[in-house]
Amino acid sequence: MNKDLRIQELEEKSKEKELRIAELLASNERLKSENENLKNEAHSFRELIHSSPSMITLLKGKNLVIQVANEPILKFWQKEKCILGKPLIEVHPDIRELGLEQLLHTVLESGEPQFGYEMPVYITRSDKRELSHFNFVYQPQKNRNGEVEGVAVIAQEVTPKAIYHEKIKNSEFRYRELIHSSNSLIAILKGEDMIVEIANQAIKDVWGKGDNVEGKPLFNVLPEMIGQGMPEIFDDVYKNGQPYIAQERPLLHQQNGSLKLGYFDFVYQPQKNISGEIEGVAIIAHDVTNQGLLNKKIRESEKKFRELVNFIPHKICTTTAEGEPVFYNNSWLNFTGKTSNELLKDSWYSLIYHEDREFIGELVESSMNTGQDIETELRIFNKDGIPKWHLARATAIKNEEGVINSWISSCTEIQKLKDDEKRKESFLKLVSHELKTPVTSIKGYIQLLQSILPEKVEADSRNIPVKPYLHRIQSQIERLIRLISEMLDLSRIEQNELILELSDFQLNEQIETVIEDLSFSHREMQIDISHEEKISIKADKERIGQVITNLITNAVKYSPDTKKVSVRVFRTEDNQAAVSVKDYGIGIALQEQQQIFKRFYRVSGNKDETYEGFGIGLYLSNEIIEKHQGRILVKSEPGKGSEFTFKLPLNQ
Ligand code: ADP
Repeated sequence: MNKDLRIQELEEKSKEKELRIAELLASNERLKSENENLKNEAHSFRELIHSSPSMITLLKGKNLVIQVANEPILKFWQKEKCILGKPLIEVHPDIRELGLEQLLHTVLESGEPQFGYEMPVYITRSDKRELSHFNFVYQPQKNRNGEVEGVAVIAQEVTPKAIYHEKIKNSEFRYRELIHSSNSLIAILKGEDMIVEIANQAIKDVWGKGDNVEGKPLFNVLPEMIGQGMPEIFDDVYKNGQPYIAQERPLLHQQNGSLKLGYFDFVYQPQKNISGEIEGVAIIAHDVTNQGLLNKKIRESEKKFRELVNFIPHKICTTTAEGEPVFYNNSWLNFTGKTSNELLKDSWYSLIYHEDREFIGELVESSMNTGQDIETELRIFNKDGIPKWHLARATAIKNEEGVINSWISSCTEIQKLKDDEKRKESFLKLVSHELKTPVTSIKGYIQLLQSILPEKVEADSRNIPVKPYLHRIQSQIERLIRLISEMLDLSRIEQNELILELSDFQLNEQIETVIEDLSFSHREMQIDISHEEKISIKADKERIGQVITNLITNAVKYSPDTKKVSVRVFRTEDNQAAVSVKDYGIGIALQEQQQIFKRFYRVSGNKDETYEGFGIGLYLSNEIIEKHQGRILVKSEPGKGSEFTFKLPLNQ
């Protein structure tokens, strides 16, 4: 029994042993395969490190001994594998200088990783020191117990990318600098809400809303723009991508509590991103308020000028410097029945009566060359094609440098005046004719009476000086006849009927005759005559006599205190016959000296009642001398006397 029990015990023990052996064998197998797996894993891990394009190294312990260093990092360090097992500081002493050693120790001590992004590092490559940029991670390496044993360094060189980023940063900086330093008003707005991204000082000053406008929607900053059409314009630029350009646009800005009017030239430019999508709107503006206000004033004054010019009854036209019309007033439109465009299109020549065109053309041409004012009479066709007399004047408008930049002309209708004048002339002619016959007949009878009557007539024992009385009557009648003749001559000249009857005669003799005739009626006169030259001329003897008579009677008339008159007959240097009549009377002011040759002109201030006359004599004399191709000149000084000289060409 015991034996059996023991055998049973032994058998059980042996089974147990076998079981244990089997278990040991199994666990041995498991360990073997685990070991194999670990080996494979380590291999793959190494493979991963060595095949990575990033630079990787594993540094162990406080001395940062290089445990692993892959191909890219060895290449970067320009070292061989033999550096494995050496402390990093021995291999790369410059890491201390770059501050990297310190950083690695921080990781070791704190167990916290460190990152670098585009870190600038100077490195020497092919003997050249160059600035490079790196992204890197310093990762703490912990053992199974969680203790930091080393640092894994994983780095990538990103120099081109960093340079690119640097360029972008620089260009952005320059762009902002440009905006901020610009005198133009500039703002960049982003998105549909027009958020102010950038606004330079110039635009902030105009907005008048302080410095903190960035980040706010534009129309929150400038609510006063809402009623002025601005949001609609911005919206349109943002949605349609079309820039908006404005010139001298008036805008009201709320500044210091009150609305201020300004004028601006501006562009609203859509802002696109690289993909061409609109991201916002840029404002580039110029404050042209001064110019705008000035232009407004100019426009207003131009409007006033136009209204004034359209209101007056005269016909006003402005032209270019070359005489090309640019504006006709309403009076022109009404008179011609044409529109402004029609008038501007047609030549102004066509408005003028045919007979007047030639001389007007010459007058205008010479004025265009000399810049002289024009004043003349001409006929202009009305809307019914009937020519009407006008007084036309034109004057050049010059700029500050004196250069003509335009002309202004006015035409005033004088047809009624002309008609009146014509009637008056016909009447004068008629009256003069009618008067001349009876007056001439009276003169005849007086002369007859004078010749038959004795010096004194004793009719009723009183002594009546009949002859002196008759003499007075004769001189008054002669004055009357002269006046009537002058009036007749005047109407002859007006109607171009003054015809010269030319003959050869001795000028000196004619003068003597005239003086002799005058001495009967002007007994007080003291004429001193000097014949410096004997001159024969071909002229209208009577008319020349008339001129001499007129000059001598004027000389006597306008010398109340002295009756001395000097007459001179001479030849001029340019071989013309000349007669001068000099007096020592009241004289004529310089500004009157040309006027006195005009019809009916009498010097004002001379007492008309003292000096009788009509103001016709010199006009007639001048006409007569001009008809002989000659000239009358006057030299005079008020209070000292006058000298009238007429010259006649000799070779007629
Ligand atoms: P009137 O009949 O008035 O003399 P005229 O045509 O002969 O007309 O002269 C025009 C004006 O010229 C005169 O009214 C006078 O004022 C001025 N005048 C003409 N001759 C002289 C002179 N010898 N001395 C001063 N004034 C003169």
